[in-house]
Amino acid sequence: MHIRDPQSQRRCLWCGKQLNRQEDILSRISYGDCLCVECRNEFKEKPVRMNPEGIRVDCLYPYEGMGREMLLQYKELKDEALYPVFLWEKRKELQKRYRGYSIIPIPSSEKALKDRGFHHVIRMFEVLDLPVYDILEKTEETEMKKLGGEIRRQKRNILRIKEDAKIPAGKILLADDVITTGTTMKSAISQIRSKSSHVKGLCIFYHSQKRQSVKQS
Ligand SMILES: [Zn+2]
Repeated sequence: MHIRDPQSQRRCLWCGKQLNRQEDILSRISYGDCLCVECRNEFKEKPVRMNPEGIRVDCLYPYEGMGREMLLQYKELKDEALYPVFLWEKRKELQKRYRGYSIIPIPSSEKALKDRGFHHVIRMFEVLDLPVYDILEKTEETEMKKLGGEIRRQKRNILRIKEDAKIPAGKILLADDVITTGTTMKSAISQIRSKSSHVKGLCIFYHSQKRQSVKQS
């Protein structure tokens, strides 16, 4: 359906309500936002700092409520249109904080990437307008592990730098959508830290204490 009235073209990306209403215009936080005031208010920031391998990793939102629903819709239902909602509110502050950094996104597996049809982390961080170096890849390795007294073969995900990848010079920001146990971030840090003297991490969501046992797909 083609809507011709430009005023009615902008709708909240989540609930579909028309934007540019009086409430949206009067609200400083939502002015120009792709979410309406009500939806944006549901997106509650509660920043935490983690320190895997001695590297500072900032995390913005607890993985719960509407933010979690949006991420699932975006990632699992491949609703790519939602990509700007996650960092929109924080973009100016983050652009200032990470000026001069290059982003290295934490990769999905080749299969997940193909299945989804877009690199969800790269798109989420697009609003920061920083150079992106997609140089890590996720591979599966099997290892022998002792399980219940028996030696058994087990699958393990590992990250590595792609062959012939160009490592960005200068400051590096490792970027991910959700941090759960921190294992993946640690693996990325171990690959990158010898290549740059200045590495930081930024994750949009984190599993709060209560949710640490929730399995992340
Ligand atoms: Zn809305």
